[in-house]
Amino acid sequence: MKSHFDAVIVGGGPAGSYLAYNLSKDGFKVILIDNKPLSHLWDKPCGAIASPLILNYLDRMGINRDIAIEEKYNYVKVFNRNMNEIAEVKLPLIKVNRQEVGKELANELCNVGVKIIDKKMGVKLKVRDDIVSAVILNNGENICGRLIIDATGFTGILRHQLRGKIPEWLIDKEDLVIAVIEDNSERRRLFETFSLIIDKGIVPGGYAWYTPLEDRTIIGIGLQPVIPNIMLSKRLLYIKKLIGIRGKILGRSIGVIYARRALASFVYNGYAMVGDAGAQGNPLLGGGILGAFIGANIAYEQIKKALEESKGENLMISDLWGYNIEFMKKRGRLLAILDIIRLFTQALSNEDLIRFARQLPQEITFKLDDIVKIGMETLGTIIKARIFWKMIDVIKAIQRIQILFDKYPNSPEKIFEWTKEVNSIFSEFKKDIYKRK
Ligand SMILES: Cc1cc2nc3c(=O)[nH]c(=O)nc-3n(C[C@H](O)[C@H](O)[C@H](O)COP(=O)(O)OP(=O)(O)OC[C@H]3O[C@@H](n4cnc5c(N)ncnc54)[C@H](O)[C@@H]3O)c2cc1C
Repeated sequence: MKSHFDAVIVGGGPAGSYLAYNLSKDGFKVILIDNKPLSHLWDKPCGAIASPLILNYLDRMGINRDIAIEEKYNYVKVFNRNMNEIAEVKLPLIKVNRQEVGKELANELCNVGVKIIDKKMGVKLKVRDDIVSAVILNNGENICGRLIIDATGFTGILRHQLRGKIPEWLIDKEDLVIAVIEDNSERRRLFETFSLIIDKGIVPGGYAWYTPLEDRTIIGIGLQPVIPNIMLSKRLLYIKKLIGIRGKILGRSIGVIYARRALASFVYNGYAMVGDAGAQGNPLLGGGILGAFIGANIAYEQIKKALEESKGENLMISDLWGYNIEFMKKRGRLLAILDIIRLFTQALSNEDLIRFARQLPQEITFKLDDIVKIGMETLGTIIKARIFWKMIDVIKAIQRIQILFDKYPNSPEKIFEWTKEVNSIFSEFKKDIYKRK
């Protein structure tokens, strides 16, 4: 049977909407399914702090920058639990107005011919003879396509059905961050820019953040769900007391973020994942909007090529493998290295974490060369400190990861073996850094 759609995209967040917009603009038949109403396409619990680089992706979809930017920041401040400033880093950031972007985007998607089904949930994949050929909605409707694209974000509801067929269909709890966000009517002058508070007692394995807006503030905390006594609300209250904020609570929301390297593969016969669904965000910051766009852009180029070149009805794993290869080259390696740094910071004692933060350079980019340079410079300045040996573990793990990413499989056959090797580097690394107290 011939599919009516070239691409069936489930999830209309940054990743899904970018892919839908661009494929449709190129003349492919695209359908986008989201469980929210179309007028709330991008609404979700999200701090919405992102690099201004995301504006390039929004420009491409015709979104006006004035609508997208709610606030601009030029640097980030880091505080300890006594509210002493321990670092100030030059890093341009914007607060994105997700609600307004979503509304504007809904129009743009319709303008380029994307068919949209809103308020419906994709609940199941239809898999026959090891090929995904459709997504089944919660009203029982089957939507068939040459490719089903999973852009459902963190939930993994569709990916879980490919258990055993793809590596890493299940994510370890230690690789998650659970976050609560509060919109508060007060603004404290002490925090004139986007600020982080790090303290392992208050936010173990994570951080609290403060986003000053014109006449209000967004406060958030994110921490690992594996810790005992998670007590998110109590911790948030503690942070609020610490920074002395007593305004009216305008809204509160809770969500989950993947804080780990990207999955080892994003494709199967008739199926591809993009954005958070493939854990393509930055593991160190839990920031996924830029990561979702970068992943979606790589996916777009490769899926477009596969749709044009493949003679078969459904795109097979071999047709889609180029997406994995390109992603791992351009982004996957960097995310794996940032994941090593994330685990390293989580393993530090509070005292060492503060010491490490004090050594942060005045300017940060997330380019691979810069990260290695920062690491080496930091190592140089803390050579006498006890984190020295942990840093050596970090460098060794980074070297091993670099070698393994150079050998990313050229075809699907060896992917399970490769994933096992990556995972064993990570487990050894975790064991090593927790051993060094
Ligand atoms: C509390 C919190 C704070 C965050 N703060 C930041 C931040 O400050 N900066 C940053 O860059 N990132 C932040 N993130 C992460 C960011 O929100 C995501 O990384 C980003 O939105 C990923 O985009 P996406 O398109 O992959 O997924 P999402 O934006 O999650 O979009 C997925 C879409 O799919 C829909 N959907 C899900 N399941 C189904 C289904 N079965 N059927 C139909 N539709 C479905 C959802 O409704 C949603 O519209 C935060 C996340 C959380 C939870």
